[in-house]
Amino acid sequence: MTIDKQVHPRQPLLPNTVSSCLGILGGGQLGRMFAHAAQAIGYKVAVLEPEAGCPAAQVAEHHVQANYDDEAGMSVLHTLASRVTTEFENVPADSLNYFARDGFVSPAGACVSIAQDRLSEKHFFTRCALNNGVYPAPHWGIATSDDVKSAPDDLLPGILKTVRMGYDGKGQVRVRTREELAQAFAGMNGQHCVLEKMLPLAYEVSVLVARGVDGEAVVYPIAENVHRDGILFTTVVPSPNVSPEIAKKAQAAALDIIAELGYVGVLCIEFFVLDDGTLAVNEMAPRPHNSGHYTIDACVTSQFEQQVRALAQLPLGDVRQHSAAAMLNILGDVWFDTDAATNKETMREPAWDQIMAIPGAHLHLYGKAEARRARKMGHITFVAGTIAEAQKALANACTILGIAAPEQA
Ligand code: ADP
Ligand code: MG
Repeated sequence: MTIDKQVHPRQPLLPNTVSSCLGILGGGQLGRMFAHAAQAIGYKVAVLEPEAGCPAAQVAEHHVQANYDDEAGMSVLHTLASRVTTEFENVPADSLNYFARDGFVSPAGACVSIAQDRLSEKHFFTRCALNNGVYPAPHWGIATSDDVKSAPDDLLPGILKTVRMGYDGKGQVRVRTREELAQAFAGMNGQHCVLEKMLPLAYEVSVLVARGVDGEAVVYPIAENVHRDGILFTTVVPSPNVSPEIAKKAQAAALDIIAELGYVGVLCIEFFVLDDGTLAVNEMAPRPHNSGHYTIDACVTSQFEQQVRALAQLPLGDVRQHSAAAMLNILGDVWFDTDAATNKETMREPAWDQIMAIPGAHLHLYGKAEARRARKMGHITFVAGTIAEAQKALANACTILGIAAPEQA
């Protein structure tokens, strides 16, 4: 599959007509929030997702209950919607290509393929870096035990990551020595991996960009992310730590990457800022991203509306942030109460009424029936006049929910 960097005149699919239906592969929370944004403008939404009662199917007009690569299911979706997007990156690229044959797909299968494979992603970033100056971490592909032997010494200590299917810190092992590397690779059951040098991270940021078929591109402010146990914990925007120079460089690199990919839609790129102030590019998600949820409540155009606009080939929206924002992810853990004396666990409903009493709090719950530990159940965005106020509100919510508050607040 080759990248198509050509630009085309927009062919808008206007809302509020009989054919104004947008299709989405995947039925999770990103699909649900996409549906909300699409419906607000006047589109209908059709979801392809095997799971009954999934978050997106609860709000979409049509739910095609089938696997993402099920020919019959795809054909039904295609009859309902001529324009199709995806809400998760592990969707088979072939499914996207299916809809592209006689319809419009955003993002393209070729772009998603690159993002699905950490090695191709790094090769791509390295090529872009010749122009934008922002490189990925030094790395080495590990497909065989010979690759373990030939990996350069200076990549250790490092992180061994599976090339495919990794997310939320899964499929990763930190290794200090070549012996540990060999052991970690042996535990990967033959999956192709990449060894990355462990970088001295000062903090992590992400940059949301969006691009239309006509090549118009927009970039959101720098979001600063804190992870806990490999899962995004908080996002604060604008990033409290980033300097104007680094912000400019990250935004320019993000715009360069999206143009080089010929990408249409919303793309989120994760960067590391190192102790010495150097910027490194980590990975990209070919879709709206958890770190961009704050845009719903704090920006003129949310990342989901932006995805709708790109897919419908409408002009992109204003990315201006009108309020400082701090976003807190709500995991299933907050439904569990552990008795300190007996260590017994009971389930409870979190005190949402108390959360709603916090000024500037916007609660978003995804309609997942069962709360499980580490499962993303919702998020809360706190908007305020200043970052400090938004962070204070977030810390208050942590106290109410029984979560250890972030250090910086
Ligand atoms: P995932 O797809 O699970 O998000 P990432 O590549 O983003 O995988 O890695 C998860 C986290 O691990 C990052 O957010 C960062 O905190 C840490 N990490 C990843 N790669 C490196 C690296 N090369 N050096 C230091 N920390 C890293
Ligand atoms: Mg990541």
